[in-house]
Amino acid sequence: MARIARYYREYGVRIVRGYMQYLWDDQGRRYLDCNTNHGVAFLGHANPYIAEAVRRQLEEVWAVPLNFSTPARERFISAFSRLLPSKFGVVFLQNTGTEAVETAIKMAKKITRRRTVVAFTNSFHGRTLGSLSITWNEAYRKAFEPLYPYVKFGKFNVAAEVEKLVDEDVCCVVVEPIQGEGGVNPATPDFLRALREVTAEKNALLIFDEIQTGFGRTGAVWAFQKYGVEPDLFTAGKALGGGLPIGVVIAREDYGDVFEPGEHGSTFAGNSVVMAAAAAASELLLKEDVPARAEAMGEELAKALAEHGSRIGLRVKGMGLMRGLELRVKADQFIQQLLSKGVLALTAGMNVLRFLPPYSITREDVELIRSAVSEVLRSPS
Ligand SMILES: *Cc1c(COP(=O)(O)O)cnc(C)c1O
Repeated sequence: MARIARYYREYGVRIVRGYMQYLWDDQGRRYLDCNTNHGVAFLGHANPYIAEAVRRQLEEVWAVPLNFSTPARERFISAFSRLLPSKFGVVFLQNTGTEAVETAIKMAKKITRRRTVVAFTNSFHGRTLGSLSITWNEAYRKAFEPLYPYVKFGKFNVAAEVEKLVDEDVCCVVVEPIQGEGGVNPATPDFLRALREVTAEKNALLIFDEIQTGFGRTGAVWAFQKYGVEPDLFTAGKALGGGLPIGVVIAREDYGDVFEPGEHGSTFAGNSVVMAAAAAASELLLKEDVPARAEAMGEELAKALAEHGSRIGLRVKGMGLMRGLELRVKADQFIQQLLSKGVLALTAGMNVLRFLPPYSITREDVELIRSAVSEVLRSPS
């Protein structure tokens, strides 16, 4: 029998079931999921409302190319439109986050007829060759160089350097409003405003990568709404599919015809089952006021993380239900210990414990996180 290639750390746990914020292993042990498949299961595992939409769609049709219209895509665009500020009139469908980032870069190149992409220190934008080119972490890129050569990295959150970074050859500036993978680092309002000004002045596109921050997690539907700075394009993915794979680029209406037929495409894009899930997820987001719940529970979570009472924990970062606890030591040593206490978490950067729980977590769940984190940080490892 073949084996599945390994390039991830193995936790030695076999997950057999999930419901909302919990997962269960084959021993019947329950875990509070603050990993959520890197933020994907933000609306919970097997959320009944989304599951029902998927179940119904499974009886209808699954695979229909974008040449045809389908009820699933109609339901999606009608629900998703209600989540978009009015300036954004067009959505490009893809299957993953990295594919959405690739699409956004292609759009910027074609719209501006320029080639240089500006990204920032500690950025993460994906793992395919184009998006990897604008991802900062050496450990992800080194083995695959040379990558796309026309990339400049600026210093994240250094507004004073933005002016000289964007010249006449820059097609776009790509930035995460809150860096996820790179350490749960919120952008400063000044930094995003400076990027907005200089890109407008130089006719380059401002692209926000909201694949991790978007779809309610930070307490607004889109993190940029908390800053009051609007991009020209932005990407979304992860939570948007309600657990199924999706990536999208959202753009101003006038960019809608950027690609000629044949110039861009993706076989699985707009798959009916995925569309049904993303439509239901979008409906649910409004119906249950998910951003407001993320904001409220995010405050509870931040307070709990700040109460760990250990000397190695420094400070809590992030917004809503995207939170990091910065440590004085490497964070990955604590992931397995937290798991053994029934809490799944992630790292971000070298020394940040990252929590990306579903919107449905309760005060009781937050109490479990608090006690697990303080026990783990206190025990000598
Ligand atoms: C996860 C992520 C991506 C890549 O998405 P995939 O679906 O893994 O390809 C890109 N940008 C950000 C900010 C992400 O968090």
